[in-house]
Amino acid sequence: MNISPLHTPIAYLKGVGPQRAELLQKELSIYTYADLLNFYPNRYIDKSKYYKINQLQNTNSEVQIIGKIIHIKTVEQKRGKRLVAKFSDETGSIELVWFKGIKWIKESLLLNKAYVVFGKINWFNGSFSMPHPELELLETHKKNIRIAMQPIYPSTEKLSKRGISNKVITQLIQQLLKETHKGITETLPDYFVEELNLIPKNKAVINIHFPQSQEYLAKAQFRLKFEELFYIQLQLLIKNKLRKQKIKGFVFEKVGENFTNFYHNHLPFNLTNAQKRVVKEIRNDVGSGAQMNRLLQGDVGSGKTIVALLVSLLALDNNFQVCLMAPTEILATQHFHGIQEFCQHINVSIALLTGSSKTAERKKIHQQLESGELQLLIGTHAVLEDKVKFKNLGLAIIDEQHRFGVAQRAKLWKKNHIPPHILVMTATPIPRTLAMSLYGDLDISVIDELPPGRKAIQTVHRYDSNRLKVFHFMREEIAKGRQVYIVYPLIEESEALDYKDLMDGYESIAREFPAPKYQISVVHGKMKAADKDFEMNRFAAGETQIMIATTVIEVGVNVPNASVMIIESSERFGLSQLHQLRGRVGRGAEQSYCILMTGQKLSNDSKTRIQTMVETNDGFKIAEVDLKLRGPGNLMGTQQSGVLQLKIADIVKDNLLLAKAREYAKRVLQKDHNLQLSEHQNIAKTYQKLNKNKTLWNFIS
Ligand code: ADP
Ligand code: MG
Repeated sequence: MNISPLHTPIAYLKGVGPQRAELLQKELSIYTYADLLNFYPNRYIDKSKYYKINQLQNTNSEVQIIGKIIHIKTVEQKRGKRLVAKFSDETGSIELVWFKGIKWIKESLLLNKAYVVFGKINWFNGSFSMPHPELELLETHKKNIRIAMQPIYPSTEKLSKRGISNKVITQLIQQLLKETHKGITETLPDYFVEELNLIPKNKAVINIHFPQSQEYLAKAQFRLKFEELFYIQLQLLIKNKLRKQKIKGFVFEKVGENFTNFYHNHLPFNLTNAQKRVVKEIRNDVGSGAQMNRLLQGDVGSGKTIVALLVSLLALDNNFQVCLMAPTEILATQHFHGIQEFCQHINVSIALLTGSSKTAERKKIHQQLESGELQLLIGTHAVLEDKVKFKNLGLAIIDEQHRFGVAQRAKLWKKNHIPPHILVMTATPIPRTLAMSLYGDLDISVIDELPPGRKAIQTVHRYDSNRLKVFHFMREEIAKGRQVYIVYPLIEESEALDYKDLMDGYESIAREFPAPKYQISVVHGKMKAADKDFEMNRFAAGETQIMIATTVIEVGVNVPNASVMIIESSERFGLSQLHQLRGRVGRGAEQSYCILMTGQKLSNDSKTRIQTMVETNDGFKIAEVDLKLRGPGNLMGTQQSGVLQLKIADIVKDNLLLAKAREYAKRVLQKDHNLQLSEHQNIAKTYQKLNKNKTLWNFIS
């Protein structure tokens, strides 16, 4: 028999044809034989085992039992009838129950003949029953070829409507395996297979679809997961290396006037060791001749801004321009003011460009950027517009990465004929496992130390019923000269209601904290930028003591005198958001507090989130819990990542395997960076194929 090559279009498979092919493409992105082969079941029905009735457990699972029907009766009930058959083996009996097709089934059932029944077991009124079981005479059952573990494939509504049932998919894959299994070649080196005790590739593929047993299924899964993770890691590592080789970067060789002067004469504080280390790491990068692509992780308040500024000064010293992009207008504005203040004694030209910059101002900025007169541009998405052209952009800094998509990074990348160095800063710590997969092509720096003198924020959980005590506490803090944030959730789906909550909240606070003694600011997304700024500035200047806001203040805002963060309906926030919000306080020398308000009833997940917040201030720990609760697909900013659309591995559950895969990938490249050794032939071939198919999402270019 001829072996069909795996890149054969799926339409050619017996049983498919053009119409089904189109459907498979549209619904499941299956274009070729290989795609179908790699379309794995998401669960299996275990028919490898026969249960005795006294072994049944109340687990709601599907089981297979051999026994006899010893009695049949029809029971009248409120609506219609049900058919009940008493089914027994030598250990006990259960009831088989039908609500539909009663007449026909009753006629076809044979008493005292051995049957195999299969179905879901229910526990009800002290006995087990099985509604609408599959039934087969034991005699027939023995004659038929059976699949021990039946694969269940993911499906879509459209597919089932158009007759592509699980059975059809199963048949197609059987057909496919018949035609191709001899063509499924090994993709990993022999020594991997040996060291890791892997089953061969073709055996793994057959067993992932039609497992011989639970044991073989486990082996197939292990092998395919490892392979998947290994090739992702290999591609990321190679890509990173190629980028460093190929993409020439500007060399910031000089440490000049701006940097030196600022560093020695105008730094308002001593850098933490972590900050110093990170500055050094970045300086190495920008001096290496390769283009920098670095992720700077640092918890809220760890002092990323000063690092960004120091690197910017280095760029300016080498006659390059710098662009710093922030996700919100408030944050961009705050960076602008903060950096202007840092730079008041050195001679640097800085401008702010946002959606609300006036036309004249914009024009001026555009011109000065092109002439090179303007050195440091700070802004929002507005800086990405095509009209914004630089004379010589050498460094692009993106703050709070998770708010930006990959596309934006790409746009910055293209703002110069040679791509600028890119520094991405994020305050949402990304668990190592995720960082490895998601940002495996970036280098990572971590600021893992807070500036000295910070007191750990105290976090408590309070029920709404305790609100009066919370008000009392607020009064005490305000009397000490502190300021208070009160944050309300704002979720798109319930926007109108959420605004109402915010306004109701404002009214009750205004009653409790009356003017003129107390002044209150309100900031929310529906306000004009100018009004927001006005209110933010009043709060920042200490003219108002209470700031009522939606999550617009989540990111970056810095008012050191604010020491109390109250989060309303905190059960509705995600963990990373709660952590971000909490990071708005604890920025000054005073003891700060975070109060998580909730209703009385909490889901288990909400309880875990709130408990985690109360227990720890460590952003990395919080990120790990978040990842476990939500899964990688839902973490901020990861949705667009193709890397996370793994076929079989799960980067949370399989994180140990991921680390192992990365270790192997590193080892291979260290030993054989061009994949030329004969023992790595399989890898070289597979890598080439993957690359041709562009399996790995291109992060940047
Ligand atoms: P984030 O990492 O959250 O962006 P910022 O850069 O806004 O943090 O820094 C938070 C606050 O800490 C700012 O007021 C900043 O000036 C201050 N800060 C940063 N580094 C230090 C340091 N080494 N010593 C003292 N204060 C610092
Ligand atoms: Mg910041």
